[in-house]
Amino acid sequence: MSDPLLDVDDVYQSYGEESVLEGITFEMERQDVKVLVGPSGSGKSTMLRCVNRLTDIDDGDICLDGDSIYDLDADELRRQVGMVFQDFNLFAHLTAIENVTLGLKRVLGLSEREAVEKAAWQLEEVGLREQANSYPAELSGGQKQRVGIARALAMDPKLMLFDEPTSALDPELIGEVLEVMRDLADEGMTMLVVTHEMGFAKQAATDVLFLDDGKLVEQGPPEQLFENPEHDRTAAFLSRLT
Ligand code: ADP
Ligand code: MG
Repeated sequence: MSDPLLDVDDVYQSYGEESVLEGITFEMERQDVKVLVGPSGSGKSTMLRCVNRLTDIDDGDICLDGDSIYDLDADELRRQVGMVFQDFNLFAHLTAIENVTLGLKRVLGLSEREAVEKAAWQLEEVGLREQANSYPAELSGGQKQRVGIARALAMDPKLMLFDEPTSALDPELIGEVLEVMRDLADEGMTMLVVTHEMGFAKQAATDVLFLDDGKLVEQGPPEQLFENPEHDRTAAFLSRLT
């Protein structure tokens, strides 16, 4: 049997004295789409940040495709694990296509021509062909987030992390970003997604993970967590979201 794509094994993390993650264990097989939910401050962002080593862990291990992420070069890890942030994290002084080509040139070592070709194709995939030469300030929030997704996808990641990708968007712009994410899930991308969009979870998630106070309280297929949760805390939390 092959290794899971992502193996999070008994992970502990703290900021100084404050313990944040307390023994988190879960696995992701290829093509899994896991949605991580939980109250504000429960450790969701920290969990994602541990996976691409923006934050170090205190104990436990995280393996990607059989290798501890601590045995991988950080640049190589971040190429293999794409991340999409709530606030887009685009470079304001670069156009959409320049935001995408930057990593292709710096990390993958593509020539300018190769990078532009790949970035143009990737922007077209997220429906932004016409916006390639626009600056972030000229784009809507939904378009900015699609540039953020294109930038991560252009690196051919094995795994995509999304940290509340639609939380900063006006309601009417959320749908276009979720649609890109659903297409990506349908194409078989492995995705770990922090979101409050339970419609997305019901449609696209293989599993929902409920994190509370740094502990993984419960995980299972969406229908199980929504309709028949094992824990009262899960039921109470999800009933507030839906
Ligand atoms: P969530 O994403 O679920 O809202 P976070 O992972 O952002 O939760 O935060 C979990 C806990 O860690 C919170 O108590 C938060 O205040 C704390 N925390 C997050 N980032 C930092 C940091 N850089 N330094 C210190 N404490 C932090
Ligand atoms: Mg967060």
